[in-house]
Amino acid sequence: MFEDETIDVECPKCGHQNSILVREFEEISETHFICEDCKVAVRIEASEFRERLEQVRKELEELQREAVQEGKRRSKRPRKDDFQI
Ligand SMILES: [Zn+2]
Repeated sequence: MFEDETIDVECPKCGHQNSILVREFEEISETHFICEDCKVAVRIEASEFRERLEQVRKELEELQREAVQEGKRRSKRPRKDDFQI
């Protein structure tokens, strides 16, 4: 779920958007990645991305909430049998 989400981190050297697993931020406070494009080693600190992580988390929660509401709405929909006079 959330742990499988990725966020895009721009390479400071070439600007390439690298997809980093959110899980990596969760486990350690800082992490390194190798830019897919120019192969430079980039060190990133989780604190710098805390805001974005929160954003991703909120978006996911919203999606889940919508899914739940959608499910409720569907199950609450009155069937023809409910309208008895
Ligand atoms: Zn790069």
